[in-house]
Amino acid sequence: MRSASATIHLAALRGNLARVRELAAGAKVMAVVKADGYGHGLERVARALAAADAFGVASIADGQRLRAAGIGQRIVVLAGPDAAGDLAELRRLRLEAVIHDDSQLDLLAADSDRRPLRLWLKIDSGMHRLGFAPERVRDVHARLRAMPGVDPAIVLMTHFANSDVFDDALTARQIDCFEAATAGLDGERSLANSAALLGWPAARGQWLRVGGLLYGMSVVAGRPAAEFGFAPAMTLTTRLVAVHGLRRGDRVGYAATWECPEDMPVGVAAIGYGDGYPRHAAIGTPVLVAGRPASVIGRVSMDLVTLDLRHAADARVGDTVTLWGRGLPVEEIANHAGTIAYELTCGVTRRVRFVEDDS
Ligand SMILES: *Cc1c(COP(=O)(O)O)cnc(C)c1O
Repeated sequence: MRSASATIHLAALRGNLARVRELAAGAKVMAVVKADGYGHGLERVARALAAADAFGVASIADGQRLRAAGIGQRIVVLAGPDAAGDLAELRRLRLEAVIHDDSQLDLLAADSDRRPLRLWLKIDSGMHRLGFAPERVRDVHARLRAMPGVDPAIVLMTHFANSDVFDDALTARQIDCFEAATAGLDGERSLANSAALLGWPAARGQWLRVGGLLYGMSVVAGRPAAEFGFAPAMTLTTRLVAVHGLRRGDRVGYAATWECPEDMPVGVAAIGYGDGYPRHAAIGTPVLVAGRPASVIGRVSMDLVTLDLRHAADARVGDTVTLWGRGLPVEEIANHAGTIAYELTCGVTRRVRFVEDDS
């Protein structure tokens, strides 16, 4: 049996939600659980975060999974409907939808069902990904409010491009743009993602949309979520399957990218990019072997990774190797692999065993 496992810390998920509430007293929290709960497991995360006010999912399919799992909270489909049958499914499952494009207005206009759908109106305040241009917001809002099948309590929302840089003028401009575009309109406001919760108190509105921080991950450069009082929700571990005493000049792994600078112990751990450990993890990427620091040497291969054990010289076959999580922030691994923590947890593959831990 392969020993790669991802332990999901349910108490950390709950504690992180409590920490979000502490930082933004009074705001409602949409727990964003797209991409299978950032790789932690959609249903598992939603059950652990039962205290959230709503869940944010990428697709109706995720909403179907959550309702099938008995999740009763509000669920917001962040991409909204894109086919006529979607509106019926949204109503059937009591899902809410983000409306960001004219094609969706057309779907709504052509719909004869009068049972009120709850909508979130997305405004493009400067990211230029999804949303209506600011000068169209009043008109679109009025059109939606006039539709008999739309609940009049429409939430006004926008998304930030660069809120993880706490002094970037772009975010300040996005906040101003959103406020001007929505001034005087009825409805709750939703602006902040995780980074904006930390760095942009002016952007809280009534609804936070928080993903990363709930999983104990930050995208703020050089500042792991632990610095802000959040705990990792996933620990990825495996075992050491071989230990070699190599000689100075011996080369290790594909393309022989590591040459031993001295006689040294080298370990082999049973994890690789086939499990979601990043192939781009550079030489020097930290790991823990039975709790002691070690690091990646050579290329990460599909099933295996080779480790410098000079600081863990008594390591033995069978020792636990921690790739990220408790004791080793996933943000640090992401830095060594040229990516962000979110991509790493989302990328853990199906052959990794998921284990729940409630401590
Ligand atoms: C993913 C997403 C979020 C959550 O972002 P985090 O950085 O994980 O907090 C919020 N809003 C929207 C629209 C998103 O797509």
